[in-house]
Amino acid sequence: MQKYYVNTPIYYVNDVPHVGHLYTTLAADVLARYYRIKLGHENVLFVTGTDEHGAKVAQAAAQHNKTPQEYADEVAPVFQKAWEATNISHDYFMRTTHHEHKKIVQGILQKMYDAGHIYKGVYEGLYCVGCEKFLTEQDMVNGKCPLHPNQEPIQQKEDNYFFKLSSFGAQVKAKIESGELEVQPQSRRNEVLGRIEQGIEDISISRQGVAWGIQIPWDTSQTVYVWVEALFNYYTATKIIPGKEDFWPNQLQLMAKDIVWFHACIWPALLLAAELKLPKAIFAHGFFTINGQKMSKSLGNVIAPQELVDTYGADGARYLLLSAYTFGNDGDLALDKFTDTYNSDLANGLGNLVSRTAKLCEGLNMGERTPLEFSEKYKNRMEHYEFKEVLDDIWAKLAELDKYFNHTMPWKLKDSPEALKEALLPVVQGLVDIAAELEPFMPQTAEKMSKQFTSAAIGAVEPYFTRI
Ligand SMILES: [Zn+2]
Repeated sequence: MQKYYVNTPIYYVNDVPHVGHLYTTLAADVLARYYRIKLGHENVLFVTGTDEHGAKVAQAAAQHNKTPQEYADEVAPVFQKAWEATNISHDYFMRTTHHEHKKIVQGILQKMYDAGHIYKGVYEGLYCVGCEKFLTEQDMVNGKCPLHPNQEPIQQKEDNYFFKLSSFGAQVKAKIESGELEVQPQSRRNEVLGRIEQGIEDISISRQGVAWGIQIPWDTSQTVYVWVEALFNYYTATKIIPGKEDFWPNQLQLMAKDIVWFHACIWPALLLAAELKLPKAIFAHGFFTINGQKMSKSLGNVIAPQELVDTYGADGARYLLLSAYTFGNDGDLALDKFTDTYNSDLANGLGNLVSRTAKLCEGLNMGERTPLEFSEKYKNRMEHYEFKEVLDDIWAKLAELDKYFNHTMPWKLKDSPEALKEALLPVVQGLVDIAAELEPFMPQTAEKMSKQFTSAAIGAVEPYFTRI
């Protein structure tokens, strides 16, 4: 039986969840829900979680007068709550402070060390504390980290253990080129291949002065570089969750494009060195602006998932995010237009057709029905991450049904129940089909629609979406 295992990145606990985290997690959720329908619940595994080690977490904890563990224990549930509020259906919430994760990572590194893939050396370079990483020439813009332009990178020199990344470049490249490891979209694939072609250097995978981390098993004066052990969470999750061992390798790792290099080059190389299987695909979506501006704390436009849910409901928020622009591209979340879109597409568009139809069905025996199978077009779009396009298709169908409704004018047939029923049936079937297609995107709405329109006695219910 085909299995589907999808991961989001695990989010760093020095920050609280914002709409950027939600965007990636929501996309993974839509895919997990779709594949559960296609393959059965037991054949799908969806894991998200938090990345809890490293100097940055220790610093944040100290500022709050907490131990790093206490601090992580406080922030991880904030993410879990955000996912609950937005109806994210992950099967497991992975935390890198899990004792099994630590043990498994240590075992893998020891194996890599014994095989000669890790050696001791001296690292000297510019380090961005904000990113928790040494910066390469390519990373920097005007000598600074592009993500932290206000933070001067610091010169750092220390004894480190190095991973022989350079020995694996050709293999990783070949796997990407052959499609054994899919890197998408195409632009990201070209970028990764180009960078490998320029030649890659070995990377430091341990830290000397960072106490908050997983100890290097053969040298306890060092901890594993937080990025390296975090990457392994995708694998360790399948060992930690009971009965999920055969879900490795995963089918998809989703992320924003800023971390594609870690995932599309370093991670596969680590797996090759550890003699583990590689993910099937890596998809890196673009960045978005908010009302045309970069999201930043200083601009005060960082949006928490809960804020969107408070205004638009979980399904409303999910619809607005994924219908905003084509997944994969860079785009803009025009928050100032969200309310208009919500009113026109959800309260008026979908909501209105649902209530008009249900009202006319009242008192009729409509007979029961089930949704049609998913069309090839729908499946194809879903499996190629074309979320906005799927929603556009669904709203085009709604518009068709609306047109049919206005053309047949069933409300004029009230005196002839049989004729009325006949006129309503195509709309009712259409709504049942739409409910099935909407399930991955708007699970609560889809459930209501499906309940309401598959039954023989269709009655009016409370409006799904109230106008704002
Ligand atoms: Zn940085």
